[in-house]
Amino acid sequence: MFKALYIDKVDDQYQCQFKPLEESDFPEGNVTVNVEYSTLNYKDGLAISGKSPVVRRFPMVPGIDFAGVVESSEHPHFAAGQRVFINGWGLGEKHWGGLTEKAKVNGDWLLLIPESMSSYDVMAVGTAGYTAMLCVQALQNNGITPQSGKVLVTGANGGVGSFAVAFLAKLGFDVIASTGRPEEEARLRQLGASEIIDRNTLSQPGRPLGKELWAAAIDSVGSHTLANVCASTQYGGVVAACGLAQGMDFPASVAPFILRGVTLAGVDSVMCPNEKRRTAWEQIAKLVDKEMLSTASSVISFNEVIDTAHQLLEGKVKGRVVVDIHRN
Ligand code: NDP
Repeated sequence: MFKALYIDKVDDQYQCQFKPLEESDFPEGNVTVNVEYSTLNYKDGLAISGKSPVVRRFPMVPGIDFAGVVESSEHPHFAAGQRVFINGWGLGEKHWGGLTEKAKVNGDWLLLIPESMSSYDVMAVGTAGYTAMLCVQALQNNGITPQSGKVLVTGANGGVGSFAVAFLAKLGFDVIASTGRPEEEARLRQLGASEIIDRNTLSQPGRPLGKELWAAAIDSVGSHTLANVCASTQYGGVVAACGLAQGMDFPASVAPFILRGVTLAGVDSVMCPNEKRRTAWEQIAKLVDKEMLSTASSVISFNEVIDTAHQLLEGKVKGRVVVDIHRN
C-alpha cells in the first residue's frame, strides 16, 4: 500500500483526499517510481480545489511533476535504482501525477536526474526553471550571443523570470529586468540583472515599432507587454514567448517581423520532446545556483499539500513550493 492524494467525482461531488492505494490501482504506465519530491503549482491548486476543470479524467492523482528512484521497470531504458524525474506530459490532468508516495508512468517521459543534482534540486528548479532554460536556448538556437546586445526579461520577479535572469547572467548576457516590484531591485541585481525597468512602461497599448532597445527578450507576460517587447527589439533580434501573466491576447502588428526581421520563438514545456529537455537540463545542471534554489522555494510536507493548495489560490504563498513526500 502507498499513500496518494486522490481526486474523484462521487455522485457528481468533487472530492480530494489522501487515500491508501495498491499498485493494482495504477491505470497505466511501465515504470514504477518511489517518489521523493514533487511540487505544488497553481495548476495543482486548481485541481485540488476543483475550482477549475484541470482534471480531465477521474479518478486522478494530481501533481504535474515528481522526482524519485525507480522501483521496477518494464521500459528498456530504465532499471530499478535509477534516479529519475518528470515534468508536464499531462501529469495530474490526463495521467496520474506526482503527489503520491509511488507513481507509475510511461518511461518515454522520464529523464535521469543530472549527476550533480539531487531529487530535491530538480523539483526546486521545477517547471519554472526548466521553462526559463528552454527560453534561453530558444534565443541561443536563433543565434543570440552575449555579443548580440542586451536581453530583456519580463515578469522578472516571477518563477520563470527569476531563473531566466540568473541563467542569462551566468552565461554572460547583459540583462534588463522588467518588474512591477521595484522593492525587489536588490534581489534582481543579485541574480545578475544590470538594469531594472518598470513593467508599466511595457504594459499599455504601444506603437507598431519603437526605439531598438534590446537584442533579445524572454517574455512570460504576453498581451501588450509582448507586443511592446517585439516593437523595441533590434534588427534581427529574437523574442522567446512562454507566458500570459498579463493576458493571452497579442495585440501587435507584423512590423517588427517584416521590417526588422525579428523572430518570435514560442516555448512550451509540457509536451516538449525529451531530446530538447535533456539539453535544457544539462545546461541547468551546469548553471544552477543551489543557494538560489533554497531561497526561491519553501519545502512543505505531503500532509500540508491540501491546505497549502488553498492558500496558493488565495495568493498567500510567496515563491515556489516543493513537497517532501516523506516528511510528516
Ligand atoms: P509567476 O506568477 O511566478 O510570475 C509571473 C510574473 O509576471 C509576476 O511575478 C510579475 O512579475 C509578472 N506579472 C504578473 N501579472 C502581471 C501583469 N498583469 N502585467 C505585467 N506583468 C505581470 O509565474 P511563472 O513565472 O511561474 O509563470 C509565468 C508565466 O509563464 C505564466 O503565465 C505561466 O502560465 C507561464 N508558464 C508557461 C509555461 C510554458 O510551458 N509555456 C511553463 C511555465 C509557466 P513582476 O512581479 O516582476 O512584475
